[in-house]
Amino acid sequence: MNRIRLLPEQVANQIAAGEVVERPASVVKELVENSLDAEARRITVETQAGGRSLIRVTDDGTGMSRDDALLCLERHATSKIQRAEDLHSIATMGFRGEALPSIASVSRFTLTTRERESDSPEGTQVVINGGKIVEVKAAGAAAGTSIESRSLFFNLPARRKFLRAQETESAHIQHYLTLAALAHPNVAFTFVKDGRTVWQLPAVPSDADRIAALRERMRQLSGTLPQLINVEANEVLNERLAPDPGEGSETADAKSEIRLWGVIGAPGVSRSTREAQHVFVNRRPVENRGINHALIEGYHTALMKGRFPVCCLFLEIDPSAVDVNIHPAKREVKFRDERAVRGFVARATRDALLGFHSPTEAHAVRPGLRAEPPRIEWLAPQRPTLPNEPALPGFPTASAPRPVAAPTALPLGFRAETATAPIITNYPVAADKLPAISNPQSSIPTHQPSGTPLLAVPLRIVGVIGKLYVVLESDRGLVLLDQHAAHERILFEQMLARLERNEVTSQRLLLPETIELGARDASFVRGIMATLTRLGVGLSEFGERTFLLDGLPPMVKAPDARGFVVSLIDDLKAAGDGVNSMRLGEHVIAKTVCRHAVKANDPLAGPELENLVNDLRHCAMPYTCPHGRPTLIEMNFRELEKKFGRAQ
Ligand code: ADP
Ligand code: MG
Repeated sequence: MNRIRLLPEQVANQIAAGEVVERPASVVKELVENSLDAEARRITVETQAGGRSLIRVTDDGTGMSRDDALLCLERHATSKIQRAEDLHSIATMGFRGEALPSIASVSRFTLTTRERESDSPEGTQVVINGGKIVEVKAAGAAAGTSIESRSLFFNLPARRKFLRAQETESAHIQHYLTLAALAHPNVAFTFVKDGRTVWQLPAVPSDADRIAALRERMRQLSGTLPQLINVEANEVLNERLAPDPGEGSETADAKSEIRLWGVIGAPGVSRSTREAQHVFVNRRPVENRGINHALIEGYHTALMKGRFPVCCLFLEIDPSAVDVNIHPAKREVKFRDERAVRGFVARATRDALLGFHSPTEAHAVRPGLRAEPPRIEWLAPQRPTLPNEPALPGFPTASAPRPVAAPTALPLGFRAETATAPIITNYPVAADKLPAISNPQSSIPTHQPSGTPLLAVPLRIVGVIGKLYVVLESDRGLVLLDQHAAHERILFEQMLARLERNEVTSQRLLLPETIELGARDASFVRGIMATLTRLGVGLSEFGERTFLLDGLPPMVKAPDARGFVVSLIDDLKAAGDGVNSMRLGEHVIAKTVCRHAVKANDPLAGPELENLVNDLRHCAMPYTCPHGRPTLIEMNFRELEKKFGRAQ
């Protein structure tokens, strides 16, 4: 007996719908993508009850002829590809020819369309109920296409039951629409939810400056933006291709251009989830683990552990170097050479972050302002510098012992302690390199556009609070600097520079000390001893579990050298968190030594603080400590005015 039968068309469509139409947001996605493929300039999305009762997408795109309007509802009917080879170079959002028949098979579906090119005011309307054509008729219609999908899954009660609460489904819809709107600033989007207009985003011309257009679209979507840096990079992608199974074992190379552009959060801007991380490959929103890793790699020490970058990035790559056909909804993509792409994205991110602080480009002199190098100066008269304070290379020493201010009288104590003799220092720091900004003395709020790095403007030290936070004034407002974080960053970069130059510098201890450790700790220390020595911690073996300590890194001022090293070892063990000490990277060790050195040192005061700000200016990544925490926080005059109710 023959038992195999071809499935009826309607059942086949419903099965396909199982893959393509997961939830209302999938319907919105497919319809909006079709509108974008049809070159729409304006797209309106209306939903009711989280898309369960109604989804309507209306566009002013090319529209369809009567024949096409009928044909597009057949499975595998598409105008976007013709041959299998076309799959290697897909430039449209759609190509599978499955969406419309799938959606029509699981809802009450109405398609109304009129060709943009045609002169006739008459369009076509097709009504389908759960996959069955109910009516095809001529209908007056605006040029473009409007597709309505009501009562989603009405004929599949099991699927309908799986839909989540309206708000959840709505959130998915809005998330997708956000992505579509970000990827197409030149298209106007309107989103109406349950009769209420959620968005009305005007089109932003993007021909002249696509990053400016993207920023404008981001502003339309979310009002205020965090501080963002532009990314613009391109390279020749050198792919190492796996050998073709049939053709020997020769590996081949392929060269093509790859480009990354968009915006990323400035150092210190991050989120606790990937929610604000938007990545597009050839304008398609995607998930790709390689790119996620590349971003974190690119941020390196500018991102806190467990935090995620904020970004909106567009990767443009030869369509043949990426497979978008590995997921029915095309959410995931696979690159032919994942490593090459990952390396490129990491480099582009890192260069943008480094370029943010590098004064060469983007921060041109503002016209009409006096050219004057940034400088630091004390607002209040300060304690005089004591002669003969021993200075260590690269960093000033702690000041002479100071009276401890009573905690309750900290601000007063601070002043009493510091206000003795006036010194005002001008530091013509790298005057040739840094941009000239207005006179720091004038406190007229100038509301500089955000995007000018904080350290490129003149700063005046006002004082220190809580023995930790340095209060500074810039011509934009208030700046707070975390001494520890800043100090850590400076030490870290100095250490890396020395490591790179292969230069071991260490302060010799007058009296070497011995350190005795437990068996486990001793073997841990043996594993990292070489690196510690390179970082300036002079340790050598002196017995099975005994070590000789004869040097400390240059900037460590610990009076108890032994105590410093013992607790450094504890810290390193915690940093390693159970991993074999051999696997603790140089950078992790350097970071830990820095954190420790800072903890061991006295709080900075007087001219040391000026040096701190100056040294920070010379760092490659000054805005975060090596663990990714911010070194500086700014509150500009506008924010202050808001807080004081002087401005809206
Ligand atoms: P695909 O997008 O993969 O081609 P769909 O089922 O989504 O498959 O759409 C089938 C075809 O219908 C498309 O190839 C396109 O020619 C046509 N089409 C769908 N939506 C629109 C629209 N909004 N405007 C113009 N043509 C459309
Ligand atoms: Mg489609």
